[in-house]
Amino acid sequence: MSVWAIVVAAGSGSRFGGDEPKQYLRLGDRRVLDWSVDAARSATDGIVLVVAPDRVGDLEPSVDSVVAGGDTRSASVRAGLAALPPDCDIVAVHDGARPLASAALYGSVVDAVRAGADAAIPGLAVTDTIKRVAGAQVVETLDRTELVAVQTPQAFRVDVLRRAHGSGADATDDAALIEAAGGSVVVVPGEAANTKLTHALDLAALESIAVRRPT
Ligand code: C5P
Repeated sequence: MSVWAIVVAAGSGSRFGGDEPKQYLRLGDRRVLDWSVDAARSATDGIVLVVAPDRVGDLEPSVDSVVAGGDTRSASVRAGLAALPPDCDIVAVHDGARPLASAALYGSVVDAVRAGADAAIPGLAVTDTIKRVAGAQVVETLDRTELVAVQTPQAFRVDVLRRAHGSGADATDDAALIEAAGGSVVVVPGEAANTKLTHALDLAALESIAVRRPT
């Protein structure tokens, strides 16, 4: 079975601040994005990198193709899907802003799809108490034993993901579109180090882990 990765890195990173989008910042000896791509490389047959339109001309030698993303994360994933080769069976979609996903995590989600799931996603138990709110008003406290915090890479049967994206809908992850279409989504254990670089403080935490990782 042919397994490809789509690494989405077309966001502007407005929550992070600064001039450079967060996925282009340095983490140890390379860019955040390079870490994300390197993990995908060791676990897949090829990589489509999705970047902002003004970066499509940048040289990115460690990926198979570079395409322009869209205004939303989902639109960027759709641009990546359009660039996959026709023989691709399974695709792992990964946030370029999650540099420390391991090759083993790719293996877990891909194996779960090989075993028959439409989609497989990494999830971690939630440690904070989560409340649903309306403005400043608390509506309810959710039972955290039923909740997981979801990461990427998320693996899919390509045909199922293409269908789910066919409507052009937007969601904060791809699995949500599969769920909405009634597909089977399974959760595999996520990794504590696989955090998404979102706020400036996250970079220091990622750096403290990255320096201990072999290159
Ligand atoms: O905004 P968020 O942190 O959820 O973005 C997750 C990933 O999706 C990031 O790697 C970001 O670069 C990517 N993204 C994208 N195109 C967009 C918005 C986000 O590729 N329009």
